[in-house]
Amino acid sequence: MSTHVTWQTVTSSAEETESLAERLATGLHGGEVIELVSDLGGGKTTFTRGLMRGLGSVDKVASPTFTISKMYIAGDLTVHHFDFYRLHEPGIIADEMAEVVSDPKAIIVVEWADVVQHVLPENRITIRIDQTPEGDRRITFHYPAALHEIMEKVEM
Ligand code: ADP
Ligand code: MG
Repeated sequence: MSTHVTWQTVTSSAEETESLAERLATGLHGGEVIELVSDLGGGKTTFTRGLMRGLGSVDKVASPTFTISKMYIAGDLTVHHFDFYRLHEPGIIADEMAEVVSDPKAIIVVEWADVVQHVLPENRITIRIDQTPEGDRRITFHYPAALHEIMEKVEM
């Protein structure tokens, strides 16, 4: 087991969450897996939108809830956005995900990853978004210490 680090912040608007994600994007090279955890409406798709903006992609980010997976292009990287909401049997999509996990030019973003925990690498960034009673979002990053360079720009 590698050592993990936890870092937390609060955002007060969708735009703030997007710019936080944008900062994370600047450190990504491909090969990273990002797991987004929150209740419905927490801001997972909003975060993904900011991430794509930070990667310089002009692709439109929408919740892939009814399509399960979407792919965006960002320069020479591809971003695979999975959403397993209400999916109880991951089946072939889990296989698809396992395949892109091994692609060094792919970044994986996954919402509602419970059913695919067995194919998620331990070496991933988990981002939890909790709504506060005030309507803000408490955002908690949990990541392997080895990824501290990626997180440097996020934590500044
Ligand atoms: P999820 O993908 O987790 O279901 P979405 O990103 O689709 O959530 O929706 C989040 C909703 O909450 C959006 O309507 C967004 O504008 C709103 N919102 C309000 N405050 C925030 C915040 N601080 N961060 C992210 N989203 C926020
Ligand atoms: Mg969503």
